[in-house]
Amino acid sequence: MKKFVIEREKLAENARLIQKKAGVPVIAVLKADGYGFGMAQMAQVLAETGIRMFAVTEPEDALRLRELGFAEQEILVMRSTALADEVYQVIQANAIATVGSPEAAYCLNEVAQGCGTQARAHLKLDTGMGRYGFLPDQYGELKAVCTDCAGIRVTGIYTHFHSAFADEAATRAQYKTLCEIAARLRADGIDCGLRHAANSSGLFCYDDLTLDAVRIGSAFTGRIPAKTPTGLNRLGYLESRVIELRTVPKGHTVGYGAGYVTPGATRIAVVPVGYTDGFSVEKKRDLYRLRDVVRYNIGEIKNGLGRGAIYITVNGQRARVLGHVGLCHVSVDVTGLDVKNGDTAILDVNPLYLSPLVPKEYV
Ligand SMILES: *Cc1c(COP(=O)(O)O)cnc(C)c1O
Repeated sequence: MKKFVIEREKLAENARLIQKKAGVPVIAVLKADGYGFGMAQMAQVLAETGIRMFAVTEPEDALRLRELGFAEQEILVMRSTALADEVYQVIQANAIATVGSPEAAYCLNEVAQGCGTQARAHLKLDTGMGRYGFLPDQYGELKAVCTDCAGIRVTGIYTHFHSAFADEAATRAQYKTLCEIAARLRADGIDCGLRHAANSSGLFCYDDLTLDAVRIGSAFTGRIPAKTPTGLNRLGYLESRVIELRTVPKGHTVGYGAGYVTPGATRIAVVPVGYTDGFSVEKKRDLYRLRDVVRYNIGEIKNGLGRGAIYITVNGQRARVLGHVGLCHVSVDVTGLDVKNGDTAILDVNPLYLSPLVPKEYV
């Protein structure tokens, strides 16, 4: 038995805190199945807190949100695409396209006109992310989308911060570029609508980058890199049970590679959760800064030496994982703790790496 538990009220609290802090409309980013929390349920809770605009990366997700009954909300598809079938889905979903290149604009314009409609689009600027977006020196092409494409109605312009959590100078430079281009369009008589840049770290690490809207994803889950406390609830935990208790003598080895040797008689609880479920697999992938990589690797070395440790919670008490995490099991030290078979075990898992086989339960 295992399940990933998500507390609805904690998510709603986060959503309310974010909207209050932003003070401008919040575009709720639901990519990657709502950051692993389930797009449909997350959208439902967020809509109930007053969120009126969603963003996804996949055109299919925009269609799915409509099928789920989210008819009132605006949906921004953040992936600029020059593929006609994808653009067609965006239009079918009555979503807002992202236009990040002349090719994407051309494609959207053609398909929209073919459908006898005018597609709404937000322009995307590449100010350093290097994936979607017009480069700042493509001003002429950018302007042409607004003036020459009868099948496109531009209702917004945005860019994406690459280092809001770490590099203030770079973030402010990206912000400035967006503002300058929007102002230049305005001076040329073009109102490109909603300007937005801030992601979760952009909102929580700075007070003045909110513009006309913010695009927030990970902050809803309470899992963002920020130096100061955010007041957000950390959302979601993996729940399982103790299925076996045993005591092994001093000098006994635990786990593959005999990675742990007991220093004395040790009471072990077995919990049937392992890295197949996503437990203890993610850390390295979350690291962007050299100092974090160094810290992580030192931790790994300590782990290899039998120091450094992973803890889970068993019957409300902290218990250390012994040896290497297995594919389907962990062994934890419950020596001296009040633990019996069937007791609840709580494990911290990054839901982005949670196995899709583990059911999610909103409570
Ligand atoms: C993922 C994403 C966001 C949300 O980022 P968070 O840091 O999770 O809030 C915003 N904008 C774009 C373009 C994204 O890809």
